[in-house]
Amino acid sequence: MRLALDQAELSREQGDFPFGVVIAWRERALVIQQNGETRDADITAHAEMLALREACRRLGRRDLSDCTIYSSCEPCPMCSAAIFQSNIPRVVFALFRDDLPHIFRKRKIRIAQLAEDWAYQPTVIGGMLREEAVQPFEGLKLPLRVVPQYHRAPTV
Ligand SMILES: [Zn+2]
Repeated sequence: MRLALDQAELSREQGDFPFGVVIAWRERALVIQQNGETRDADITAHAEMLALREACRRLGRRDLSDCTIYSSCEPCPMCSAAIFQSNIPRVVFALFRDDLPHIFRKRKIRIAQLAEDWAYQPTVIGGMLREEAVQPFEGLKLPLRVVPQYHRAPTV
């Protein structure tokens, strides 16, 4: 988890939101990944998504049922679904989304609930090194939130 938190700090230093992930295989770090959303201008480039892609590439398979994923923060619904799609049986994270309510949108769908919806029953553990995980967010200058608006469909 400490490696994941280091990646969160690195993300912050490089202008991205501070998120980091490690995927462990056979009790060693297979992939160490930072967030790439801003860097890559890619809304799907969350640290978890990038890490899953790289872990599959390195192992040469789409099944990660012998891996553990460590994330600096509770994975979002997109990442949770991808994690479960890979059959990772153990998900460990530091911060809960509720720990930073001024940063994270309140979501009804959370990883623990999503986990219940998958047949293989992954273990989800939150709160590891929680206090340390808050640090990269302190003093963070936040970009303006995109306020949901109603958009009219193009009339072309
Ligand atoms: Zn995500």
